[in-house]
Amino acid sequence: MTFTGSTSGRRRAGREIADRVGFSYAGSMPELPDVTVYVKALAMRVAGQPIERVRLVSPFLVRTAVPPIRSVEGTRIVGVSRLGKRIVFALDRDELFLVLHLMIAGRLHWRTPGAKVPGRIGLAAFDFPNGTLVLTEASTKKRAALHLIRGATALGELDRGGIDVLAVTSDDFAEALRRENHTLKRALTDPSLFDGIGNAYSDEILHRARLSPLKLTRRLTDAEVARLHDATRQTLTEWIDRLRGEVGDGFPETVTAFRPEMAVHGRFGQPCPACGTPVQRIVYAENEANYCPTCQTGGRLLADRALSRLLRADWPRTVDELEQRRAAGHGMPSPPASRPLDAGEETP
Ligand SMILES: [Zn+2]
Repeated sequence: MTFTGSTSGRRRAGREIADRVGFSYAGSMPELPDVTVYVKALAMRVAGQPIERVRLVSPFLVRTAVPPIRSVEGTRIVGVSRLGKRIVFALDRDELFLVLHLMIAGRLHWRTPGAKVPGRIGLAAFDFPNGTLVLTEASTKKRAALHLIRGATALGELDRGGIDVLAVTSDDFAEALRRENHTLKRALTDPSLFDGIGNAYSDEILHRARLSPLKLTRRLTDAEVARLHDATRQTLTEWIDRLRGEVGDGFPETVTAFRPEMAVHGRFGQPCPACGTPVQRIVYAENEANYCPTCQTGGRLLADRALSRLLRADWPRTVDELEQRRAAGHGMPSPPASRPLDAGEETP
């Protein structure tokens, strides 16, 4: 069947479910591997360079009033680093830091000096002697955020407190994971627990760990926690290497949360690369969980009874049932949204 309800009804339905299972509403945005690659490419170009001029197009971009954004003109960038999903530029004057959050659709571009800021999607340009850093956001909702802050203490206040999964011991990982009892999808994407993991890589991590996105963190065995920790490190490290390999010495111009090499994220209906079962998903508000029922949930389809009722959907309970229905000509049941949201696309 096809869902024909109103957009607002669909949103409400997703939101009720999201409230109950405790998912966050964050969409797919650049995550740890993407931001890591941005940081390296930026450091290669702007570390040691003076900011000659700032051209602001969107009045909504800068979220701080003091110090004024103009005060960065003439300062020199002394370092580029990652803080969660944010990019931090340390400046050589007055302990100033420029902190950029790209949110979902914000992207950076490296252009020739003095390059024009594109009209509809351009937010700002930072002019350096060797090039211009252009910030765009391909969405009518302008959510990318730039903070100019003074002092390490103020910078620390932007730190959500999640641990860097590539740097911690397995004990630290287990402690953060079990601190509260949440679904794995929610725990992995909680920036106060783990640093820089969002919607896309949490799907990939859980598929590699062969764990259900809805499994509760306090129900995990020690062996499952260890498997999840390994899967987390391997997934993020592999993707950093892959993205770095693709970008080389160039600038990452094609950052997207949906990539064909991903196992399950954004691959609804396509075969799982491990077992061939069609990838399934739960869509809620602006977020989604993609998973392989055979690899991750013992063959069960994750359907929420309340969501099914709201959508009047007829969800099959198992992969076998799904296959039987399809063979009988009933087709695939439609989830609440018909396709994944692309980065930069407006949510319905
Ligand atoms: Zn599978």
